[in-house]
Amino acid sequence: MMDDFAGERQRMVAAQLRGRGLRDERVLEAFEQVPRHLFVPERVRYEAYADMPLPIGHDQTISQPYIVALMISLLDLHGDECVLEVGTGSGYEAALLSRLTAEVHTVELVRDLGEKAGLLLQELHCENVHVHIGDGTLGWPESAPYGGIIASAAAPQVPPPLREQLAQEGRLVLPVAQEYEQYLKVISRSGNEYAERIITAVAFVPMRGKHGCD
Ligand code: SAH
Repeated sequence: MMDDFAGERQRMVAAQLRGRGLRDERVLEAFEQVPRHLFVPERVRYEAYADMPLPIGHDQTISQPYIVALMISLLDLHGDECVLEVGTGSGYEAALLSRLTAEVHTVELVRDLGEKAGLLLQELHCENVHVHIGDGTLGWPESAPYGGIIASAAAPQVPPPLREQLAQEGRLVLPVAQEYEQYLKVISRSGNEYAERIITAVAFVPMRGKHGCD
């Protein structure tokens, strides 16, 4: 997908992703292709490929490219999974996932954001992405189980429905808020055992909803 921003996108991948040690070539290629500038408001478009999060309205943000890439890499997708995303926001992460796996279900609480993202994803022919409006802390049981689940808002604990909707050998990648800090966690399922790893400290907007910060 060539456009005026292709050069900036390549520099973003080289400096911010590859330069910080991310090596999954499929993930890097997706970042080279998805036009991040279309997912941010026009007034911040010139900063779309900068090394930082940007506002997308409704007090929400599109995460820094590196964090999105790190989280998607941790899902370790092979291409045949059904993936659940909690917090569609701009739709950027969903567009990346669309290139990396078979089917994507993404749930957004704020109707306006979800509807806008849905339209843009349609324009970009991300036909395997399904946007749903609702409380993503409940997961999306209709299409479970998921080979990967990714959340881009921080919950006070891992929402139980997300654990339950994980497929065998599936991975759940999400920020969890503990006291004053948030940590990125990976939870891997094997049978009914869940192994948990903490990756790094992060800063995300709060997850709302039943198992969120409300
Ligand atoms: N992945 C997004 C980042 C979105 S920021 C992107 O690529 O742009 C986090 C999003 O989570 C916000 O849009 C917020 O409205 C949404 N959110 C917060 N709590 C939620 C919940 N319980 N269910 C679904 N979405 C939620």
